[in-house]
Amino acid sequence: MALFKKPKKGQFWCCFCGAPLVCRTSWFAHVFLRQQVYQCHFAPCSASFYARTELTHLASPSGLPNAPACELPPSNNHLRKMAQKVYENNLVIREEQLSLLRDEIDEDQQQQQQQQQHVREDLAS
Ligand SMILES: [Zn+2]
Repeated sequence: MALFKKPKKGQFWCCFCGAPLVCRTSWFAHVFLRQQVYQCHFAPCSASFYARTELTHLASPSGLPNAPACELPPSNNHLRKMAQKVYENNLVIREEQLSLLRDEIDEDQQQQQQQQQHVREDLAS
């Protein structure tokens, strides 16, 4: 039987005794990097650990209209979604262009048929 309860989601635990770790202090090393010191909650053990939390990539851009540019690179998933939108938009544009061409061809055919009818009527009279 375990000495300590199962840690909560996202919580670190001590690799020596299995007790949950508690964040004792933290500081920003960089605008995108935060460092922490975790200590084992089981007093007789009291092992401590360094940790870091880092923002590495842009997962989704800001929805604000005048948001400044972000220094972080876009994630591969975000790049894939942007490429998919461009591809879908190009498909829509291509379909619109094809339908315009079809309309033009139909109009040309109607004009030719009307001209042929006029020629036949002129010949008949
Ligand atoms: Zn411990």
